[in-house]
Amino acid sequence: MTCGAADPVVMDDDDAFRFETRSIHAGQAPDEETGALMTPIHANSTYEQDAPGEHRGYEYSRTGNPTRTDLEANLASLEGGEYGRAFSSGMGAINTVLNLLESGDHVVTGEDVYGGTHRIFTQVYEGYDVEFTFVDMTDVDEIDAAMQANTELLWLETPTNPLMSVVDIAAASDVAHDHGALCAIDNTFATPYLQRPLEHGADIVSHSLTKYLGGHSDVVGGALVTDDADLDEQFGFYQNAVGATPGPFDCFLVLRGTKSLPVRMDRHCENARQLAAWLDDHDRVDTVYYPGLESHPGHEVAARQMDDFGGMLSFELDATLEAASEFVSATQVFTLAESLGGVESLIEQPAPMTHAAIPREERLEAGLTDGLVRASVGIEHVDDLKADVQQAMEYALD
Ligand SMILES: *Cc1c(COP(=O)(O)O)cnc(C)c1O
Repeated sequence: MTCGAADPVVMDDDDAFRFETRSIHAGQAPDEETGALMTPIHANSTYEQDAPGEHRGYEYSRTGNPTRTDLEANLASLEGGEYGRAFSSGMGAINTVLNLLESGDHVVTGEDVYGGTHRIFTQVYEGYDVEFTFVDMTDVDEIDAAMQANTELLWLETPTNPLMSVVDIAAASDVAHDHGALCAIDNTFATPYLQRPLEHGADIVSHSLTKYLGGHSDVVGGALVTDDADLDEQFGFYQNAVGATPGPFDCFLVLRGTKSLPVRMDRHCENARQLAAWLDDHDRVDTVYYPGLESHPGHEVAARQMDDFGGMLSFELDATLEAASEFVSATQVFTLAESLGGVESLIEQPAPMTHAAIPREERLEAGLTDGLVRASVGIEHVDDLKADVQQAMEYALD
């Protein structure tokens, strides 16, 4: 499937097997020699050649490693794509897409993209004369108006962070293609279990494997999936040329994570749905941002392009910055931390944490109020999560 390796792929036929089956088996077959079920951690840098230049699919582990090959096949199958590439981090994957660009090219992207994505756009690639326009991606006309003759890439996330804005992937892909640009979607928040952007017309799907796909807050990784053989070949070239590739132990951990992705996501979604409804009724909460709520402006589009609404939500406490800080410090089941997507619940306050780099006036204008709190809802018992939020409110807000 990738790297010219001997084909180890089983059960990655999207038509023959359902998602839950492929998450456990795609890309992985029992070892032929020993019958060992799990993909081995091929802790190995180089490979014996039968004659000079005659190898058995692998020469050097930056170029390709068998543990990585299995992970790449697994991820491609889950996204319903032909080709997968794994990277040492989500940023390594994003950088690889940007490697496709040249000086003088233009990119249209969302004003609320992930902070690290905003940083590599403005602090690395603008220095190479790549131009970026940041727009409200929920408004297709605004995307269309921002496209220029030299626009090569439309880069977007959905749902976005931290207000869970929802972007219509099919409409955005159409705009990109009308202008001869590629459409790339960062699918980290939704995961392929809930949303498969290639089905809606996107060209490239990008992931931080660090989040739901790894799922246990114990590994950093990234991935790209595409149906386009030329793009995949270029991604493989940059994997080898730039070297942001994951080690075999990291690949093993993500393979272990994707096996339980469907059952974890079901519980993440159910807990988030219940917590969102409970917060929505709470007298200390002004607004709840969760695409599963009918009141959420992106609800209809989310219902159309997602199979469920995910485990991320934000809510606005009726509180000052200081009181909201006390609240997120007082939770005991929710851990105060950045990042997301692990089995454990995390909570954070965007204003002084993830979004601290944005000046206050700009931040307020974007709806990121002082009392805004973001939660990555884990898979603990939902009653313990509600009780924890309640006790922290009583401690910090009264
Ligand atoms: C975390 C994250 C990234 C970056 O991934 P790393 O694995 O931390 O490099 C990119 N996009 C989104 C949406 C993320 O949440």
